[in-house]
Amino acid sequence: MQIFDKKKMKAAVLYGPTDLHIEEVDIPEIKPDEVLIRVRAIGICPSDVRSYLGIYKRQMYPWGKESYGLSGHEWCGDIVKVGEAVKDFSVGDRVVPEIIVPCGSCKYCGMGFTHLCKNKGNITRGYAEYAKSPAKALFKLPNNVSFIEAAFSEPIAVCLHANDIISAKPGQTVLIIGGGPMGLIHVQVTKLSGAQVIVSEVVESRLKMAKDFGADITLNPAKEDMARIVKDQTGGYGADAVIVATGSKAAIESAFKAVRSAGTIVLFGGTYPPANIEVDPNIIHYGEINVTGSYDHVPHHIERGLKLLEMKKLNVEKLVSNTFPLEQLKDGFELVKSGYALKVQVKP
Ligand SMILES: [Zn+2]
Ligand SMILES: [Zn+2]
Repeated sequence: MQIFDKKKMKAAVLYGPTDLHIEEVDIPEIKPDEVLIRVRAIGICPSDVRSYLGIYKRQMYPWGKESYGLSGHEWCGDIVKVGEAVKDFSVGDRVVPEIIVPCGSCKYCGMGFTHLCKNKGNITRGYAEYAKSPAKALFKLPNNVSFIEAAFSEPIAVCLHANDIISAKPGQTVLIIGGGPMGLIHVQVTKLSGAQVIVSEVVESRLKMAKDFGADITLNPAKEDMARIVKDQTGGYGADAVIVATGSKAAIESAFKAVRSAGTIVLFGGTYPPANIEVDPNIIHYGEINVTGSYDHVPHHIERGLKLLEMKKLNVEKLVSNTFPLEQLKDGFELVKSGYALKVQVKP
């Protein structure tokens, strides 16, 4: 077996808002139960861009070399080194990490809500040539799943989580507000449940993609009456479920006009800057509307996402609008910030 003896690698380090540098850093040391992975693809998550811009209220990843200052969690790659206690993985295995490391002992972990764990850690730092992970957090990639696809494991898992919450049934109607990368994954996942899918989005090119991915009806709320169209499609009742895949206050408020009584509204996106929404509470009370959030995922969502990719039930490669080398990560962040891209990937 070839010995991996490289000591240095390139990694992105954030020193302060937009103060991003690609630097030579030490390759992480691995513990006996960990593996070192050559990062092959990483998707830029909007949360990374918020870290880059410094607009989180608390800086989740302290700036500077200590933590790289960025999350960088949508990554995958192949193993180059395994710790001596690792049994189930070997050099060359193509893998994706489960990025959430739950404590296993808090109340939420006990309830199976590992994504809400009070003391969770994260396997991050994907904006680098190499990254490490405990072996127990890894999933092997099916042979027919590319690194480009596998870098969507986390976004897909997060969408599957929301899909579990609405539990859409064949013949029901689901309204998806927002046709960005996540909205377009929601379209594909929701279609698999056999529901009618309506997508509301202001960018025409995204509406076209939503159609290509199987949306039954697309509409532009800047030009059309969203609630009217949804009601027309549902015998006047409204959607069985609404997934709000954007953090916009107006979009969230509009969901209440389009959902049926006893239907479900899932708030899927964070709102930045934070905003208060205005809703007549009578709509929720008399309509028995279920309003819930959906955030992150638990491990079986990663497993199911990989199975869907293996079965060719999802087309995520088409969602990649741009790919940059690590050296141009800053351009990638700026492009995501501009709102003109779909999924931007980086190849370290
Ligand atoms: Zn993400
Ligand atoms: Zn916990």
